[in-house]
Amino acid sequence: MFEASPDALIAIAEDGRIRIANAAASRLFGVAADELIGSDHRALLSEGFRNELEQIFRHLRDLEPIPPREVYGVHSDGTEFAAELAGALLESAEGPQLLVSIRSTSHRKAADADLREAMSLLTATLESTADGILVISSDGSVAGFNDQFLKMWGIPPELLEGDSEEPVMRLILSQVEDPEAFIARLTEVEENPDAESHDVLDFKDGRTFERYSRPRRVGEKIVGRVWSFRDVTPRRKAQEQAQRAMLDLAAQAEQLRALAFQDHLTGLANRAVFNDGLAAALREPRLKTVDVLLVDLDDFKEVNDILGHQAGDDMLVEVARRLRGCVPTADVVARLGGDEFVVLLTACPDADAIAACIVRCLHVPVTISGTVLRPSLSLGMASAGADAISPSELLRQADIAMYAAKAAGKNRFLRFHPEMMAALVQRTDMEAGLQLAVPRGEISVVFQPIVSPRLGQVVQVEALARWDRGGVRVPPSVFIPLAERSGLISEVGEEVMARSLVQLAPWLNEDPSRSLAVNVSGVQLQDATFADGVLRLTEAAGVGAYQLVLEVTESVFFDADSHLISQLSSLREAGVRVALDDFGTGYSSLGRLQELPVDTVKIDRTFVSMVRTGRERLPILSSMINMAHSLGLTVTAEGVETATQADYLTALECDSLQGYLFSLPEMGNRLELAVRQAEQAIAALNGRPG
Ligand code: C2E
Ligand code: CA
Ligand code: CA
Repeated sequence: MFEASPDALIAIAEDGRIRIANAAASRLFGVAADELIGSDHRALLSEGFRNELEQIFRHLRDLEPIPPREVYGVHSDGTEFAAELAGALLESAEGPQLLVSIRSTSHRKAADADLREAMSLLTATLESTADGILVISSDGSVAGFNDQFLKMWGIPPELLEGDSEEPVMRLILSQVEDPEAFIARLTEVEENPDAESHDVLDFKDGRTFERYSRPRRVGEKIVGRVWSFRDVTPRRKAQEQAQRAMLDLAAQAEQLRALAFQDHLTGLANRAVFNDGLAAALREPRLKTVDVLLVDLDDFKEVNDILGHQAGDDMLVEVARRLRGCVPTADVVARLGGDEFVVLLTACPDADAIAACIVRCLHVPVTISGTVLRPSLSLGMASAGADAISPSELLRQADIAMYAAKAAGKNRFLRFHPEMMAALVQRTDMEAGLQLAVPRGEISVVFQPIVSPRLGQVVQVEALARWDRGGVRVPPSVFIPLAERSGLISEVGEEVMARSLVQLAPWLNEDPSRSLAVNVSGVQLQDATFADGVLRLTEAAGVGAYQLVLEVTESVFFDADSHLISQLSSLREAGVRVALDDFGTGYSSLGRLQELPVDTVKIDRTFVSMVRTGRERLPILSSMINMAHSLGLTVTAEGVETATQADYLTALECDSLQGYLFSLPEMGNRLELAVRQAEQAIAALNGRPG
């Protein structure tokens, strides 16, 4: 038993020498047992502890009880170690001996130190932590908490010292947003004592806590539960803010994306989308055909000018809707800007049918701002087939075809044809030629008589411009629009006015009731010196201003600025009269007539041509004439080609008639002849010989 003891055992005689030692002692001190025996025990103890055993010996011999002592021992290798000594007296033949058990406590010391360190660390952590901590024992009583816990929940410390936990619970529940969920979680962990839990508590005052809970164990045994609460309000707020910012950003990105790809007014695709789509379609070898349909509304400017921009926008939206309806959903319909749209058809078996459908659908009447309008458009179509073509070239071809459609009379579609290219070249060439027309004396004037059925006389002639270019006559329907677009119309107009005043001065001077009508474009009226120029020319020719009539179309009044109106009023003050040409063809209503500074309306020949048998009822003609008369205006009918038409108009009390029935437009030197011919024609109508 002595040998087998795990504790080191030695017996010391009164002289301090070791009498016996066991194996554990030899292990503890690193000294062989036979070397130990007989040696002085003091060598086994550190300095300062060498008298410990003698003292124990003395106490025991005096029969005083003595508790175990803590000492430091010395190993044979010189290292010191902590040990606990306990002694007992042993009677032997040689006298009393001290039996000592020595147990090294170094491992215990280390564990103690660790424990102390952990404890202080824990306390420090508990006190410094921002978390509120509550420890509950298995029996449900409060085992501990830190200050932070009280602070976070606003619990007065006395409340926790009370016997009942109920007031604390009430206080806690009064603060959380969802007390039921709070209790549910408590019950849940109560039923599962070894479960960990983590959840988020929302407070009524807007704070947010994270709640952790884990069982408190000692060894394997669960002795309670630790609750820790962390205030994450700032983090939560920052998260929410970040989330909101992300949402805002996403919304903005969506908006930007829409802006980047969508026409904001009509919701159609925009130019960029079309360009991308066209380029992609032309790169795709499997596509047999790619068609581009370029659409431009006819006379859209008038809608905008007469009915206002809102009406213009409404019209564009309606046009966009109809366009979309005519085109397969997979194909791109884009607004390029203004009143220009484009359709991209890929692999469409019959593009012509779609183009025809677009022209037809767009022409259906629509009511905008209370006015019934018939939108019309010119459509140019170009297609890519087997031959390679660039996107810009294809679009250019569609553009040329679109212009050709306009030139061919609008409200139609035309497919691009290489000859249109030639027409384009011609147009550019024409413009260059027109630049030189006036200086080269290529502009001349012809005169067409206008008769009064009541007087049976020619009372007026209209001057019409002619351009003979290198012996070829260019029609006014070609060069007048060209001159207007290029601004050359001012020069041409002035030439026409000057020439006709000079040529007609003798005829006008014969009878002051005769007058000369000259066509004037809106472009000319934009020029601030126009009125002065006109008055100077009449004066130079010796013709009274009251013998001059300026024919303008209603489009000049659309966006009439104040100085255009003041030009016309100063001319009218000087006696010049104004006639509204092509009346009835524009968008404006009869009702607008009274606002305009005009003296005469010229009913367009499309209305006159409605008269065929002379027995038809044409309320439009009679109401135009009656309306004009009621406003004190005189009425001239243009394009009178048949006696039936002349009779019909005369019966409606139309003041003057003009047309091939009376005379073609003639050169100034043939004016006498033309006038005589016209007067014969009117006399024949009136049943009198000429
Ligand atoms: P407009 O002012 O309406 O002129 C009348 C047009 O009708 C003239 O064509 C005339 O020759 C034509 N006409 C006359 N009687 C008849 C008829 O019985 N039947 C038919 N089918 N047509 C008839 P024109 O000379 O070719 O002029 C065309 C347009 O060119 C004019 O239409 C006018 O708008 C413009 N224009 C002509 N000369 C000038 C000018 O000096 N300045 C400006 N700004 N425009 C001009
Ligand atoms: Ca005219
Ligand atoms: Ca006319």
